[in-house]
Amino acid sequence: MRSILIGIDGAEPSLIQKWQDELPTLANFNFCKLESTLPPSSAPAWTSVVTGVEPEKHWIYDFFYFDGEIKVVNSRYRKKPAIWNLLSSLGMKSIVVNVPVTYPPEKINGVIVSGLLTPPKAKFVFPNGAEKLLKGYKMEHLIVDDLPIRIASYYYPEKVLTMLNEWIGWRTKAVLRLISKYGFDFCMVVYRATDLAQHFLDDEYVYQIYKKVDEEIAKIMENVKANYFVVSDHGFCKIRKNININNFLYEKGFLKIKKKEGKLKFGKRIANFLRFLPRKFTHLPFVKKMLFSIAKKENVIDFSSSIAFCLSSSSRAILMRREHKDEVVKEIESIKLNGEKVLKLKELKYPYIKDWSYMVADLKDGYFLMDLLNFEGMISKPEKFNFKREHAKEGVFMTYGKIFKEMDEKAKITDVMPTILHSMKLPIPNYLDGKVLDIFKEKRAVRKVDWEKYWLSEKEREIIRKLALKI
Ligand SMILES: [Zn+2]
Repeated sequence: MRSILIGIDGAEPSLIQKWQDELPTLANFNFCKLESTLPPSSAPAWTSVVTGVEPEKHWIYDFFYFDGEIKVVNSRYRKKPAIWNLLSSLGMKSIVVNVPVTYPPEKINGVIVSGLLTPPKAKFVFPNGAEKLLKGYKMEHLIVDDLPIRIASYYYPEKVLTMLNEWIGWRTKAVLRLISKYGFDFCMVVYRATDLAQHFLDDEYVYQIYKKVDEEIAKIMENVKANYFVVSDHGFCKIRKNININNFLYEKGFLKIKKKEGKLKFGKRIANFLRFLPRKFTHLPFVKKMLFSIAKKENVIDFSSSIAFCLSSSSRAILMRREHKDEVVKEIESIKLNGEKVLKLKELKYPYIKDWSYMVADLKDGYFLMDLLNFEGMISKPEKFNFKREHAKEGVFMTYGKIFKEMDEKAKITDVMPTILHSMKLPIPNYLDGKVLDIFKEKRAVRKVDWEKYWLSEKEREIIRKLALKI
C-alpha cells in the first residue's frame, strides 16, 4: 500500500492535544511524541526524517556551515539517500513537495518541488513540465508588503495570516494536482507555515493556522487512499529569555571583532533607532540594506583571530578552536540563570573544517540561544520584533490507516523513514540510526539490506526488488 507523509513544521504535541476537539482530522490519528535531532532545527531534523540517520551521517547540521566562511547548504550536501532516492532505485514513484533543503531538486522517479532554502527565481521543480501544474505556487519569501515577516507580524498580523493560509492552500493543491497527473507510491508534503506562525504570531493566529492545516489534510485524505503519517520536526515553546551567546564570548575575549567596538555600537544605535521609527522609514531600500549588513556576522566577527563564536541561532552551535576547547566549554557550561544551569555542550563530528570543534548546545526548552552580537550583555528578554517562541525538543509522530495500532512508545526522528519503508513492505537499509517502530497490528520481521549506495547496479537492484516482493 502506498504511503503519504505529511509534515507539519514545528507542530507542538501539547497544542495538538489541547486542540483535539477543534482539529477533527488530526483527532482521528494515532498519536505519540517524537524526539527531534540535536539541534531541533528544521534543516537537520527534516533531513533526518527522510534519511533515517543523525546529522553526523547526513552532514546537514543547520542552514549554514562554516569552512572558514559562513555558507548556506543545499540538497547536494546531503550524504545519505533520502527515501525517494531508495524508492527510485526500485522503480517506485515519489512526489515530494516543499521539504526543506531539497533544492536543487534531484532527478528522481517522480516529482520534486523544492522547499525552504530555494533561492528566489530559481528552477524549483523536477521534472520539466511539472511546473505547468503549479502556476501561481509561491515559495516562502518572508517579505510582506516589502517588510520582513518579523516586523509585518507585529504591525499587520492579519496580512501575515492571509499569506500563510495561501501558502498552506497551495501546498495541498500542488500535492493533489501532481498525484492525479503522475501517480505515486510515496508522497511527502511539508506545511511550513506553522513554524513561522509560532515564531512570530500571537496564540489566536497560531490556532487558526493549525486549524487551516487540519482542514487541508482532510482535503488530501478525502481524495487519496493511502496509509498516512503525520510528523513534526520539533515542537515549540514560549521563550522566557534570550541567551546572547556571542556577547558572552566577546566579553570573555573568545570572539574578536574586525572594527572598533565604538563604531559597531554606533551602527547598532542607528539600527535600534530605526526600529522604532514609523514603518515608512524602515521601508527605504537603503535602510534595509544597512540593517542587513549590520546583521551580517562576517562584517563584524574576525574569524581568523577568534577562538569561539556562535554560528547561528538555528544551529545552536558554537565553533571553537580545538586547542582552546576545554576552557571555552567550561566557561559556557557554567552559565547559570536563576541559579540553574541551562545548557550542556555536545561535540558533533564536523566534516567542513579541521582544527575547530563543533559544539551544539543542548538547551533547556524556553531559552533561545541568540547569535546576536550587540555588546549589550548575555541575557535579554524577547522584544517586539524578536521570536515569541522557539523550537522545543519534541515533535509528533502520528498514523492513520487500517494497518496501524495505537501507540504507546515515543518515536525518534530517525525512526520515521524505516517505519514508512516497512509499512510499504520494503526492506530497510542497514546503515540507519533509526528503527522500525512497533506500531503495526500485524507483526512482520524487519528485513535489513546493504543499501548503502542508491546508485545501485542493475544486479543489486534486482536482488533488492526480489527481496521486497518476498515480504
Ligand atoms: Zn522546523
